[in-house]
This record gives sequence, structure tokens and C-alpha cells, in this order.
Amino acid sequence: MARKDFHFNRRAALAGFPLAAARLSRAAQESSDRSPTSYPGAYSYDDQERRELNEALSSRTLFRWYGPSKPVKVAAFEKAFAEYMGVKYALAVTSGTAALHTALTALGVGPGDEVILPAWAWYACYNAILMTGALPVFAECDESLNIDPADVEKKITSQTRVVMVLHLYGCGADMDRLLLLARRHNIRILEDTAQSLGGQYKGRRLGSLGDIGMYSFQISKTLTAGEGGAVVTNDPALFERAARFHDLGLLRPLHKDLLGREAMSGFVGVNYRMNEMSGAVMLAQLRKLDTILAAFRRHARYVRDHIQSLPGLELRSLPDAGGEIGTAVFVFLKSKAARDEFVKTMRAENVAAHPPTGSLYLPAVPHIEQKTAMHPAWPSFNTPRGKSIRYGADCCPRTVELYDRCATLPIGAKDTERDLRGVVAAVKKAYRT
Ligand SMILES: *Cc1c(COP(=O)(O)O)cnc(C)c1O
Repeated sequence: MARKDFHFNRRAALAGFPLAAARLSRAAQESSDRSPTSYPGAYSYDDQERRELNEALSSRTLFRWYGPSKPVKVAAFEKAFAEYMGVKYALAVTSGTAALHTALTALGVGPGDEVILPAWAWYACYNAILMTGALPVFAECDESLNIDPADVEKKITSQTRVVMVLHLYGCGADMDRLLLLARRHNIRILEDTAQSLGGQYKGRRLGSLGDIGMYSFQISKTLTAGEGGAVVTNDPALFERAARFHDLGLLRPLHKDLLGREAMSGFVGVNYRMNEMSGAVMLAQLRKLDTILAAFRRHARYVRDHIQSLPGLELRSLPDAGGEIGTAVFVFLKSKAARDEFVKTMRAENVAAHPPTGSLYLPAVPHIEQKTAMHPAWPSFNTPRGKSIRYGADCCPRTVELYDRCATLPIGAKDTERDLRGVVAAVKKAYRT
């Protein structure tokens, strides 16, 4: 893309950002990023996606299981994705939300169960837990912006089944401590890797370390088919439950062959099947992941290396800096007022810094604070624990404080050295405000 367009878009992003309403406004979440920085997958589309899509269309078979000819795209994508992640099984689904719902159901989560999730997360994390009928229990985040293992331990009860570990914005959570904790308390780990596709923790792909992992291919994620998602696991029983739930309760021949046998009988499922067009685009996208990640990493490192020794400027802590994917760099200012002032000065310098977007402090969202489910008799809030639990701003105060002091420095896969130098120069100017 031409540099001129790029700068135009960056400027449009700045102009469109309603600073005062930043905290919980969905509009702010959506209008603050309109540059190529926010759409690395979409901006990488080329003849590879076109060729894959054309093949799918020419086959007249856009359904993954059958049609006028043999469907191949979703099946090939699942195989390639499992290989990339270093897992035995991958299941393509229609969205990240569908992937979370499928993963939780595969883990056997349902009414009466509790699922711990970070207070700083995305609506889908909370919603998927509600959909199973279980009770969401929020835990604090730490300076890595990910769930704090020490607070997770405090939130475990006899009803806790799963910890939903979210690898926020490209950086893995402290998996060693979380896995140890889970083993000790006999609970399972679901990794929400929607924002950290291809990232690693101590040499292993994020999403492959816990019992089950999930990804999103919505347009703001690293790779995209517009919508889409995936579930990965090494556990054949979890895969069979996931495959069945996502497709009416059935186990189709491809997945049965992969498993080698059918270990359980059917149960009720939904329809979260990925179609062949999405599979075709994702096949082409996946081949580009390493190139996109290498650019992000290089650019994020450049910015971090040049600002980390500034006295008094605090950076996001990275549990495994080598595995982080660098889709943004995060800094903490002294207070919310200082953060807002920092963002204002950065914008005056034509750098699209902004408060965190694409994730938020969930417990203070009005319908969450008020515990409004899809139906008054919904099981989540009708157990004794569900009735007594309190959300709101006070439920995870440390996370609120971190969230309010945090600013995002945008990193783009297509940034030039001049862009990056500009970001560094603007930080040096703005951070003392
Ligand atoms: C985007 C996202 C999801 C949901 O993915 P969709 O494909 O939009 O349904 C879930 N979790 C996190 C952390 C996300 O960022």
C-alpha cells in the first residue's frame, strides 16, 4: 500500500478517536484503529488467496463435507493448522466465539460449574461461559496484562472446572505457574489465543500448552477470513466432543478417521462448521503467518529497545519476551490523567497511540455488573454462588488501575524505519507529561 494512504489512514484514526469516552465505549473500541496496522491479514491478501478461493468456487463445493465435487479446503486448513501449532487435532469453526463455546463444552463445562477468566478480556470470553450455563469468576491481571496466577489461586472453589487463560495482545501468560496450579487443583486450562496467533511460550505455540486452545480469524486478528475460528487439542476425547458439538452432535468420517475410532455416542450440538471459502482464504493466510510475525516482532523490538531505558517509563512485562508477537507495545503512565495526556501529546505528534482497545475491563460493563443473562431463569446466576457473586469496578481493582494507566503504541507489519523512529521520538517527548 502507498505510504500516502497509510498516513492518511493513521491521521483518520487519530481524528476519529473520542478520548473522553474511551473507557467502556464500544464505539471508541471500534473507531480507534482504522489503519493497516489493525488489519495485517487483510492487507496481505494477494493472488494466493485469489487462487484458493477460485479453486473452491470452481469446484462448486462450498460446504466442507460434500457437494458436486470433493471438498478439500477446510480439511487441508485443519491439517496445516494442527501442524503449525504442533498439536494432534485442529477443528475449524465459524468464529472465535464459536471456538470458545465449543472448547468449553468439550471440557464438560455446564450449569453449576465455575470458570475463572481475567477481568481484562473481551466480551466473547464472558459470553461463551454464560452460553454453557456456568458462572464466570473474574481474576486480576498483573503487569503482563494477563491473568495473575496468584489471584487465580484465590478464586478457586470446589466448583471451579476451568481457567480461561487469555494471551492478551500478542504476549503469552505465565503458563508454567498456571499449568502447575491447574494440575494441583485438578482443573483444566483453556487458552484464548485469539489475539496471539503464532506466539510462543518457551518454544511452544500459544494455544497448545493447556488442555485445549482456541483462535479467531475475525478481521482485527493477525490472520483473517472475515470471520472464523479454530479449536486445538492433543486430547482425543476433547477433540471428539468438540467435533461433535460443533456439528449437530455428529462425528463425520474425516474426523473419525483422524481419531481412529468413535469413543462416545452422540449428544446435542450446534452448527459452527467452517465453509470452504473461509477454509480456502485461511489456507493462503496461514502460509504468510511467519512473515507477518517476523515484521511485527522486528518493529516492536525496535520501539521497545529505544524506550525501555527512559527513566520512569514502565513497560508491559513479558513472561517470555522471545515468544511475544509484537502487534503493539504497551506502556504504563503514572495515572489515568497522565495516560490521557500522554495519548493527547502522542496524537499531536501524529502517532496513533491510544488507550487499550479490542479488550476491556469486563466486570464494569453495565449488563455484566447487573448479571443480566439471556433469560431470567438462566442457570449461571441462579445457583447460591451465582446469586451472591458481585461484579463491578470493585471486583478487580488492580486490573482497573492497570487498565487506566495503560497506553498502546501501534506497531504495523508494514511500518517503515521512519514510522518507528517517529513513534520513539514521540514517546520521548510525551512520556513526562
Ligand atoms: C476476538 C476475540 C474473541 C472472539 O473472536 P470472534 O471471532 O470475534 O468471535 C475471543 N477472545 C478474544 C480475546 C478476542 O480478542
